[in-house]
Amino acid sequence: MLVIMKSDATEEEVNEVIHEIEHLGFRGIPIPGAQRTAVCIVGNNGQVDDYHILSMPGVKETIRVTKPYKLVGRETHPQPSLITVGNVTFGGKKPVIMAGPCAIESETQSLTIAGIVKQAGAQVFRGGAFKPRTSPYSFQGLGEDGLKILRKVREETGLMVITEATDTGNIELVEHYADIIQIGARNMQNYSLLRRAGQTTKPILLKRGFAATIEELLMSAEYIMSEGNSNVILCERGIRTFADNTRNTLDLSAILTIKELSHLPVVVDPSHAAGKRDYVIPLSRGAIAVGAAGILVEVHNNPTKALSDGMQSLYPEQFVTLVKDIEDLAGLSAKRGGE
Ligand code: PEP
Ligand code: MN
Repeated sequence: MLVIMKSDATEEEVNEVIHEIEHLGFRGIPIPGAQRTAVCIVGNNGQVDDYHILSMPGVKETIRVTKPYKLVGRETHPQPSLITVGNVTFGGKKPVIMAGPCAIESETQSLTIAGIVKQAGAQVFRGGAFKPRTSPYSFQGLGEDGLKILRKVREETGLMVITEATDTGNIELVEHYADIIQIGARNMQNYSLLRRAGQTTKPILLKRGFAATIEELLMSAEYIMSEGNSNVILCERGIRTFADNTRNTLDLSAILTIKELSHLPVVVDPSHAAGKRDYVIPLSRGAIAVGAAGILVEVHNNPTKALSDGMQSLYPEQFVTLVKDIEDLAGLSAKRGGE
């Protein structure tokens, strides 16, 4: 249930409502809006008796929330959310381009690729320091040394940096060094990690699991938001289907559904979806055309020598083309009055 406050309700009146909700045994999460504040009641299993709440000063009305993802859904937050980190905004008019290697391999490799992607127009540098690999014998990432390299990339290029936290044991370190914390497909339903991610103020990029429905993705985002972190960016990265022409099947219609159901920005990772570098540019164009808030792509200066995901990593010159294509598409959509 959502308690809608009057537009002139005072902070004390909002706090009184939260207090009353707690008295009833639930939690009240304030959602400030442009016109008025709403308080979302969470923790209830079924309808709440709102008789007393409705008579409290500053309360306008109560609305039933039908969806299980209360904070993530459009019912409680009809306007799209903008998520800002440094000079980058997700969900605004300009699609955000995040690019870099699958894994941080060395300082030279990272600074070289960061220079290339920055020059081409990327706003965020990606690179894994803790790598969730299918085989325990594959390169697992440089750990904290990789995070230190990311810090250097930020200092030298001014790019924001995104990197993955793979468990509750390393999220504190990642939180310390990264601007955006990634939670990978394999961890989309790691609920203790999601709860911990909800306790930081850093934005979280939450990737859809290979076998997760959109509702499951939204419920995972709800775990993060219910702990108090509303800076969540969703990411479609391909799902597992019977099709074996690509590594995963990029579900572009997910962008449309997520935007219908949720106010959170949603980006696309065409690299892990395709698994083939030559598909990455067309799939990125498709993602922006259907309204994605940005893309997360793998780029490497020497893909044949990459320690992970070389096959799907773009060559620098391909990335230059990709950025130009996206800028053209985004300009086209602005001219037509689209988002
Ligand atoms: C990644 O982006 O480095 C990654 C491992 O992706 P995913 O979790 O989507 O497989
Ligand atoms: Mn990868």
